[in-house]
This record gives sequence, C-alpha cells and structure tokens, in this order.
Amino acid sequence: MGLVVQKYGGSSVADAEGIKRVAKRIVEAKKNGNQVVVVVSAMGDTTDELIDLAEQVSPMPAGREFDMLLTAGERISMALLAMAIKNLGHEAQSFTGSQAGVITDSVHNKARIIDVTPGRIRDSLDKGNIAIVAGFQGVSADKKDITTLGRGGSDTTAVALAAALDAEVCEIYTDVDGVFTADPRVVKKAKKIDWISFEDMLELAASGSKILLHRCVEYARRYNIPIHVRSSFSGLQGTWVSSEPIEQGDKKVEQAIISGVAHDTSEAKITVVGVPDKPGEAAAIFRTIADAEINIDMVVQNVSAASTGLTDISFTLPKTEGRKAIDALEKNRPGIGFDSLRYDDQIGKISLVGAGMKTNPGVTASFFEALSDAGVNIELISTSEIRISVVTRKDDVPEAVRAVHTAFGLDSDTDEAVVYGGTGR
Ligand code: ASP
Ligand code: MG
Repeated sequence: MGLVVQKYGGSSVADAEGIKRVAKRIVEAKKNGNQVVVVVSAMGDTTDELIDLAEQVSPMPAGREFDMLLTAGERISMALLAMAIKNLGHEAQSFTGSQAGVITDSVHNKARIIDVTPGRIRDSLDKGNIAIVAGFQGVSADKKDITTLGRGGSDTTAVALAAALDAEVCEIYTDVDGVFTADPRVVKKAKKIDWISFEDMLELAASGSKILLHRCVEYARRYNIPIHVRSSFSGLQGTWVSSEPIEQGDKKVEQAIISGVAHDTSEAKITVVGVPDKPGEAAAIFRTIADAEINIDMVVQNVSAASTGLTDISFTLPKTEGRKAIDALEKNRPGIGFDSLRYDDQIGKISLVGAGMKTNPGVTASFFEALSDAGVNIELISTSEIRISVVTRKDDVPEAVRAVHTAFGLDSDTDEAVVYGGTGR
C-alpha cells in the first residue's frame, strides 16, 4: 500500500461545493488502496481577509497574535473537509500543524520548519483514517508558540510531511493544470510542462513564478520527493517536478532546452547616485542593507565618469522592503558618502530559464532580439548558468513575456491553458 500526500490550495476549497468536490477526490485516492494524508490551505481569500481585519485594529500587525489569527483560516478548512469526507462514509481526522508534529523555529510570520514528528498522523493512518493537516503552520521548538510559514506556506507543509512520512509522491492540487511555460494568466498560449527538473523549477520560482514557492521546491530537492502539480478541477496529468525525467509510454521525457519564461512585478529599484569610485564603497552600501535584514536581487554598478570620479550603483529588492532600505541608507549617508537616492517601483523583471542554455549558443542574443523587436528597453541584466533576467518598465512586462515566449517556440498550437478558479488575489 502506498502513501500519498495531497495538498489542496485555497481556490480548490473556496466554498462548500469545492470542499465536497475535493472530498470525493480524496476518497478516490483512498479507494485506490493508498494511505492518504491531505494538507489544506485556508478557503479562498480567507487569509487576505484575516490580514485586512487585523490591519483595521492595528496598523502593522505582526508576531505571535498575528500568527494565531492567520492559522485559524486553515483550521476552518481542515475541519470542514474532514466532515465532508465522513459524510461520504470514510473516516477522517483533522490535525493542526502543531498536532501533526510540524516543528519550526520561532520567527513569527515566516518560520522555518526544523523538524517533523508525525507520530499522531501515523497512528491515525494505521487506524484506517484519512489524515487532514492544516497547512502553513507549526509550533516553535523553544517557546511552543504557534507560527506560520509565510504566504503560500502550505506547499512546504505538504512536502515536509511527505518527506517525514516517506511518501511516494506529494501531489499539489491547484487551479491550473500544472506548471506552464509562462503564467497562463498572461500568455494564453502557454504550454503545460510534463516534467521539469528541481533545478529549473527552483530558478523559475526564484524568478517570480508563483505556482510553487522556492522554499517548497528546495525542500523537495533536499529530500528527493517527487512533486506532481495538477488541477483539482480536472482529471488531467499535471507536471512532475523531480530529479529524473519521467517515463511517457516507453520513453523518457526529454529535458527541454528552455523550460519557461517567468516574470515578477513585486520588486523595486534603488539607485545610489554619486558614489566615490574607490574600494569599500559597495561594501559599505550593501553592509547597510544586510544589517537591515533586507534581501537584494540584482546589482549593477555604472562606469564612473573620469571627470568626477563618481559612479552610480543600482540594485533591486522586494517593494515591501523599499522604505526600510531607503531609511537605512539615509541614516548611514555620512559614513558611506553619496549624493542622493532614487527609488523606482515601476519596474518588472522577465527571466528565461532552462538548463539547455548552458550548451546552446545564441540564447542570450535571441532573448535580447525578441525584446528589441517588441520595442522593450532593457534597464538591468543578470544571468546565472541556467537563467537570463532583465529589468524593464513594469508596463512592458506582459508584452515582453509574450514576445520572448513566442521567440523561443514555446507557444502551444491550442489554447490549452485553463485557469479554473481563484481570484488571483
Ligand atoms: N493560506 C495561506 C496563504 O494564503 C497559506 C497557503 O495558501 O499556502 O498564504
Ligand atoms: Mg492561499
């Protein structure tokens, strides 16, 4: 008998109908002879609504009580799902993250899982139950406080449980049919990917693809847990994310040269203007940013004008950290020495990802040509072995993504990308 972990996202359990539909699917998996563990997210936009509510009573809600509040969302859906399953004549028990043995550090609102001790889940399975676990939450090892794993954290819960229970597969059910070569909300002709390596999936996630969180893929790669991303609204095969290509018929799916195009409009750009071109300047700027605990993404330094000996340094960072970064730099301006700061939150990033670019010349040239043909101006460039990213004006992003997708022959002949649910919030 196999053990499967299934995770259902908020849009799959958005209302009573959704919960009943999902319950049927879960019962099917059980009837096929599997032990089934289900991880569930909060219904629909519940988490956002709870955040709105918190902001109405306190300007910047955070910490222990905020986590206590947000975890309520998943407790609602887990209990309702267990009831719906019982109504279909099968036994189910729901567990909070803490009851399921999800142990985290004590960083509220973005805790990391440090251990999983799923004793109660095992017992429940051994008694023939379907175990339902609230996603996105755990309990801190030291203070025994309830924590959350950061937005979208239920996927990580699912993979962590799959690893701890030695599951055959972690199935992630969502509102699209799998991982696509671009966001189907932007590119109608995006194609479903049958198989993608952990490496390419990590780069896509790091580049703004929202289908799977970086942390979740990282966890799956570390414990070598195959992920099957698929829709809870259709019966189609989805996308396998794993270390080895899957078999299709009697042959292996080939590694694509280019896996896909990702985009990200959640970043801003800060330019430090008039920095003396001498050793130690970049160090001073980025030490200031690091001390403020801000993660940065791209960095470029312009050539300094010989006459002034001054240069500009630009970097990108999450918009949400913009204010903090500006304040930190201003505070240290006397020590660092620069003329002024420029803040720009109207940028977007477009990335092309694929392990095949290591061995195929001309990928970078074709990427830039596609952008140029679409009349898109490039502001920053950064690359890794298997990724090229550019920063452009935010308004240019949809057009740029479509142009690059077409240029690399990724368009499908049919409009296969269906978005079944979700409000995209
Ligand atoms: N409900 C949480 C959120 O919306 C966790 C999740 O959906 O994975 O971020
Ligand atoms: Mg959610």
